[in-house]
Amino acid sequence: MNGPLTASVSVDLDNLWAYLKTHGDADWERMPSFLPTAVPRLLDVLGEHGVTATAFAVGADAVRDDGAAAVAAFAARGHEIGNHSYHHEPWLHRYSRAELVDELTRTEEAVVAAGAPVPVGFRGPGYSVSPTLLEVLAERGYRYDASTLPTWIGPIARAVHNRTAPASDERAELFGGFSRVFAPNTAHRPRVGDGLVELPVTTMPLLRVPIHGAYALMLYRISPRLARGYVGTALRLCRAFGVGPSLLVHPTDVLGPGEAPGMEFFPGMDVPAADKVALLAWTLAAARARFDVVGTGAHAARVTVPPRLRENR
Ligand SMILES: [Zn+2]
Repeated sequence: MNGPLTASVSVDLDNLWAYLKTHGDADWERMPSFLPTAVPRLLDVLGEHGVTATAFAVGADAVRDDGAAAVAAFAARGHEIGNHSYHHEPWLHRYSRAELVDELTRTEEAVVAAGAPVPVGFRGPGYSVSPTLLEVLAERGYRYDASTLPTWIGPIARAVHNRTAPASDERAELFGGFSRVFAPNTAHRPRVGDGLVELPVTTMPLLRVPIHGAYALMLYRISPRLARGYVGTALRLCRAFGVGPSLLVHPTDVLGPGEAPGMEFFPGMDVPAADKVALLAWTLAAARARFDVVGTGAHAARVTVPPRLRENR
């Protein structure tokens, strides 16, 4: 193998209100935020491990003081800022073209107003993506989309989540369908969106189960060693199969009991913050031991897959 494989780390700045909204909790309308608690911890652990990552910002947060401060703090430390939609609705794949343009534009403006460059990367909330979205991203000069999670576990995650959430048409489609298991697990050129690179959130090679956050933390509750073994095995398999993993981090990965009021339903929220920070630190160190770890923008830029030839129409 010539040189180290590239891996990337990205942080989705999903805020407390966004989780409550997806879960159907009316309290979300007060827009509660845990960013002021989570962001300094995330920046510290990334900094301690020398990881320059990407933070995907939600527009509805970036227009407020705490969200703008989060964008500014990540940007000031050299991290890339990506676009994570404006309203953070996991049913974004149902939006019209005009609604998608509005989501992208408003978030771009908020990110720039907070002091960061115009985003060139996008991640849909709840792994939601549509052909129209990819077209609009390409038209707006985006270089990559990082929205897909190639796993079979979406319908199961949805069933578990929706046991505690009110029924709705939108929630019926959360977390993607079974077809996702056939989606590529490595960076590739999507069928639509000229010039775009698709950088999936990496799942365990062969097993196609997610390796990030809540999934590792469910194991952590059984045994910290089991959680580290799971993440370590995933990284070793990535290395063995030549998969440069794109690793996903959330604020909930550094927040402990009582720091996300209303999210007691969410897996791993009873794990102490210090334990979570230690697991994230261990994960970053393990990734750096095997890969050249960068942000998702740099990862996508290193993809050498040629642009697809346009199909004759
Ligand atoms: Zn999100």
